[in-house]
Amino acid sequence: MAATEPSKTPLEAKSPYELRVNLGKDVPESDVRTALSTGEMGFLHSFTTGSAVDGPGIRVVAWTTGCMYRCLYCHNPDTWTMSNGIPVSIGHALEQLNRYKHGLKIMAGGFTLSGGEPLMQHRFAVKLLSGARKLGIHAALDSNGYYGDKLSDEEFDAFDLVLLDIKAWDPALHKRLTGMDPEPTLAFARRLAARRKPIWLRYVLVPGLTDDPGDITKIAEFAAGLGNVERVDVLPFHQLGLHKWEKLKIDYTLAGTRPPSAEVVERTCAIYRDKGLKAY
Ligand code: SF4
Repeated sequence: MAATEPSKTPLEAKSPYELRVNLGKDVPESDVRTALSTGEMGFLHSFTTGSAVDGPGIRVVAWTTGCMYRCLYCHNPDTWTMSNGIPVSIGHALEQLNRYKHGLKIMAGGFTLSGGEPLMQHRFAVKLLSGARKLGIHAALDSNGYYGDKLSDEEFDAFDLVLLDIKAWDPALHKRLTGMDPEPTLAFARRLAARRKPIWLRYVLVPGLTDDPGDITKIAEFAAGLGNVERVDVLPFHQLGLHKWEKLKIDYTLAGTRPPSAEVVERTCAIYRDKGLKAY
């Protein structure tokens, strides 16, 4: 790989809501291809620390860039494009993680690889997650699961937990929401279940889009049938990412959508609980 000028933007960010664009735009195309095939380099929006909502305990989160979905409610559309991220060698990313190792152990936390969609860079994801585990750090993959088939069963050993986003059950709704089909995500969930790899299911609740009890019931039945879903996190839609859509000049159709009421959140949790799942 040709030497790439290190980005002056710090890898660490206060939150993933910091808008970051074009930080990897000078990486030659051939280096990008090599990075993707070897996992020796990845593209990261940022590292953030202190998250209490991205897995057990307090987490360090690495946010990758690149996503095959175009969710209507995406909070971080600057992570859609891989070249918006900072090019980072696997060695440097693991050095960063090593700095947090002791603190994470004390706080019973760990490392979460999120995005964007981390499996867009599946070789890098496997190396980073398994590297974290070798450092003795609990490793979680936060994924929409669409590229789950890029991982072999053995590579599931790279992580302790998957935070799996299921966006909708009905294929037409899923496609309208994300631009893609739901089946690859469901297939990934079934494979994780067969390997008894724990899943924390994440469900973004958007009024008028993903609040239909019938659709949610289908997801709940599927999740309960897997046997490896330890909990469900119902994530109320919010507008924290709105400024990114505006700055990136992408057409945002949910500007008038409000967060769901407490009653609708509770009703949604109750559907999951009714199927025997823990839901929050
Ligand atoms: S999968 Fe996540 S990062 Fe990708 S478009 Fe959807 S919300 Fe955004």
